[in-house]
Amino acid sequence: MFTYVAKTSLKAAAGVTVATGVYIVTYPYLCKQRSEKVVVIGGGTAGLGVAAMLQNEGMHNVTIVEPSQVHYYQPLWTLVGGGLANGKDSEKPMKDVIPKGTEWIKKRVEGFKPEENQVTLDDGSTVNYDYLVVAAGMQTDWDAIPGLQEGLAKKDSGVVSIYDRNTCEKTWNTFNVVKNDPSFTPSNPAKFLFSFPPTTLKCAGAPQKIMWILEDTLRQEGSKARESANLTFLTPGGAMFGVKHYSDKLEKMRVERGVNAEFNHKLISIDVPNKMATFMNLKNNTPIQKSYDMLHVAPHMSAPKFLRNSPIVDSNGWVDVCKTTMQSTKYKNIFALGDCTNTPNSKTAAAITSQAPVVVHNIERSIDGVPLDGGYTGYASCPLVIAKNQVLLAEFGYGGKLAETFDRKNGKWPWKYIGTEVSCYIFHRLVRFIYVLIKIV
Ligand SMILES: Cc1cc2nc3c(=O)[nH]c(=O)nc-3n(C[C@H](O)[C@H](O)[C@H](O)COP(=O)(O)OP(=O)(O)OC[C@H]3O[C@@H](n4cnc5c(N)ncnc54)[C@H](O)[C@@H]3O)c2cc1C
Repeated sequence: MFTYVAKTSLKAAAGVTVATGVYIVTYPYLCKQRSEKVVVIGGGTAGLGVAAMLQNEGMHNVTIVEPSQVHYYQPLWTLVGGGLANGKDSEKPMKDVIPKGTEWIKKRVEGFKPEENQVTLDDGSTVNYDYLVVAAGMQTDWDAIPGLQEGLAKKDSGVVSIYDRNTCEKTWNTFNVVKNDPSFTPSNPAKFLFSFPPTTLKCAGAPQKIMWILEDTLRQEGSKARESANLTFLTPGGAMFGVKHYSDKLEKMRVERGVNAEFNHKLISIDVPNKMATFMNLKNNTPIQKSYDMLHVAPHMSAPKFLRNSPIVDSNGWVDVCKTTMQSTKYKNIFALGDCTNTPNSKTAAAITSQAPVVVHNIERSIDGVPLDGGYTGYASCPLVIAKNQVLLAEFGYGGKLAETFDRKNGKWPWKYIGTEVSCYIFHRLVRFIYVLIKIV
């Protein structure tokens, strides 16, 4: 009886797997095939995601313009800084991630001629398009804080940042040097400062994620290691996070874990030789100096320079799009997504997973001459890593409206039940039962 049930289950599982495989393989051929030329600017998370989806939807005339030979998976840099991942793993050769069938122009876009449906490249040549998708990310302004570049370049300066591939490893290395320095004791603790910029930034949770991971590392080493360190989070904002629901939880945790916070404080300069950072107290407009042993800086960020003088942006230089359809407010055949747009969502790769299908769907609708769908609700998520093995998953839309996948009260089936202790237990037992069954067979 046991064997019969197991064999039948296996046959059913094999049937479902084959059917799913056939569906996935044949799906692109069942789609309407289209010949319109789509040019995508940028081979980052957004550009690659859209290009792959366009291909899957039967649009085979897709070109990506991207100058970099390497694609970086930036979210990993937080874990690299926290000693939980290898920096090399955040890199992939661009040629390996450009979707199959997509043309890759290894150049930089320098200008836009939307009236002529053209972009100009850094060698002076032009590329024509029927549809243009702008996915050029945001730029990091390393020179906005005097002393930052000098501090990052100097090996033993104590100045670190996870916001760049070249400096994320330095974060973990510097942390270990300071942590293992015997001159720091509970009566003379090492000073770890974590800054937050006054500008828009990608992954607004990252400046504190790295702090929580390092704090947890110290805690795991025992009370002496933890008490020999003094951690302070300094932010121009008035709270730990932009969405109150999560901010309240983080504030409670901050107090419990003995981490200091200085709200309304903006980093303005770094005196590298003297290991002294100057912050502006925004409440009374007074500069204050703080010495540090390790200073983690989340740098200023802004819209990419080449976009700023173009006709497709708003007064701040971000691509001006409708916040629900992702279509340019000025040109009907231009769409944009990811970090370079002026949509008021939190700039994360998670947001792009919701924006990309909307862009693809609306390009198709535009080709078909039907009204666009306003499908994007501002969804973004921020997996706030609060310890080596713990995440506070913040998920929200425009205006900080909660959009939690595993919402036990308001979530949809099956998420309402998945995540509860009982369902986790049942799921665990079920997996174990199937495992034992397979072993018996
Ligand atoms: C430290 C850190 C931690 C993060 N953690 C998370 C996280 O936990 N969860 C999460 O969801 N998100 C996280 N993010 C944010 C996420 O990585 C970004 O939101 C995402 O990469 C944005 O994708 P994008 O395609 O818009 O921009 P990018 O991925 O930056 O890509 C932009 C691309 O455009 C190209 N480009 C630029 N200028 C031109 C030009 N003139 N011509 C042609 N191409 C050009 C660039 O070379 C680049 O390849 C994190 C980011 C960082 C830095």
